[in-house]
Amino acid sequence: MIQERFSQRIQSVPRSFIREILKVTADPSIISFAGGLPNPELFPVQEMSRAARDVLDEVGPAALQYSTTEGFPPLREAIAARYVAKGVQVDPDHIIVTTGSQQCLDILGKILVNPGDTVVMERPGYLGAIQSFGLFEPVFQTVSLQNGGPDLDELERIFETAHPKIFYAVPNFQNPSGMTYDHAARQALADLLKRYPDVLFVEDDPYGELRFAGSPQPLLFSLTRGRSVLLGSFSKIASPGMRLGWMVVTDDALRDMAVRAKQASDLHTSTFTQQVMARYLADNDMTRHIARICQRYGEQCEVMCEALDVSMPDGLRYIRPEGGMFVWIELPEGYRAMELFDLAIAAKVAFVPGTPFYVDGSGEHTLRLNFSNSDPKRIREGIDRLAGCMQTFLEA
Ligand code: PMP
Repeated sequence: MIQERFSQRIQSVPRSFIREILKVTADPSIISFAGGLPNPELFPVQEMSRAARDVLDEVGPAALQYSTTEGFPPLREAIAARYVAKGVQVDPDHIIVTTGSQQCLDILGKILVNPGDTVVMERPGYLGAIQSFGLFEPVFQTVSLQNGGPDLDELERIFETAHPKIFYAVPNFQNPSGMTYDHAARQALADLLKRYPDVLFVEDDPYGELRFAGSPQPLLFSLTRGRSVLLGSFSKIASPGMRLGWMVVTDDALRDMAVRAKQASDLHTSTFTQQVMARYLADNDMTRHIARICQRYGEQCEVMCEALDVSMPDGLRYIRPEGGMFVWIELPEGYRAMELFDLAIAAKVAFVPGTPFYVDGSGEHTLRLNFSNSDPKRIREGIDRLAGCMQTFLEA
C-alpha cells in the first residue's frame, strides 16, 4: 500500500479545507465569499505584458538563465527602496526573494523547527502557516487574538513555559480575522519580545499596504530594531500568479541558513518573473496602483459591512476590518458554522467555516468572508442569501 510509505511529516499536515471548498464554489451560480483571491480586474496586465517584452528584448538570454539564490539584485533594491520610502530601514543585502511569501514559512520551518519544538501562532491563525510549519512536526501553542492585538499575558505565559522557537503573526489585516494590532499592542509586544530574545518573531505582512481605513501602524520589524524576520509579498499588490515574495533577515547567520535551505528547495526563484517584476516596478507608479486597489477593496468592504448591518440576525458579531480582504463573523456560541455552510451552499452562497484556522479544532462558531473578489452587486445579493440562511439556522 502506497499509504504506508508516506512520511509521518506529510501525514500530520491537515488537508486544506479551503481547497476542498473551492471545488464546490467553481459553480458560477454560487456567490463565493470563500476564496482568498485578489480581484483580477486590478491585475496590471498591460503593464506586465510590456515589462515582459522589454525584458526579453533588452536582456535576452540572461533573463532565461539560472540565477542567484538570494534573488535578482535590482528587485531586492526596489523592495528595499519601497520600505525606505515609508521610513522603514531595510538593506537590500538583507532581502531574500522567494517563490511567494509562502516559501518563507517553509524555509523558516526547515532551518529552525525540530519535531516537538514549540511554534506559537495566533488563534485563529493563517491556515497556510499551520500547514507549512506543520510539516516540521512542531507542537503548536496559540495565543488568542482580540480586536487590538494578541493577549500578551497569555503570550508571556507561553514564552515562559514552552520556550518557543518562533512566534508567527500577521499584525496587519490578518488572514482570517481581518484584525490589526493597535499601536499600544505593537509597542507592548516589541517590549515583550525584547525580554525573550530566544523567540524569533516572524512578522508576515502580505496585506499591510492594503489599508483603506484608520491610520498606518509601525511594523514590528521597526519596533524590534530589525531583530524580527519580516515577510512580504507581491501577491496582493501586483500578481499572486507570479509567485514573488521576500523575507528580510538582518541576522547574518540566520540569512545564511535561509539561503542554504532555499537553495536545497528550488535553487532560486524564477529569473524571468523577478526581472519582469523589477522592470514593472521601475516603469510604473506602484503607489498609484496600490491606491486603486485600496479604494476598490474599501468600497467592497463597505458594501459587505452595510449589507451585514442591514440584514444579519441579532446575536452575530462581525469585525469590520481597516484593510485587507476579509470580514470575520462570530455566530452565538454553540452554533456550528459547518452546518450553516451546508444551508448556504444549498442557497448558492459560500464562505469558509472558521475551524481550519484553529490548530485545536475549536472556533466552530466562526466563519470568514472574502470581499476582494466580488463586485458590489454580488456582495449585496450574497449577503442577502446568507442572512436568509442564518435566520433559518438560528431559529432552528
Ligand atoms: N501569509 C498570509 C497571511 C497569507 O494570507 C498568504 C496568502 N493567502 C500568504 C502568506 C502566502 O502568500 P504568497 O505565497 O502568495 O506570497
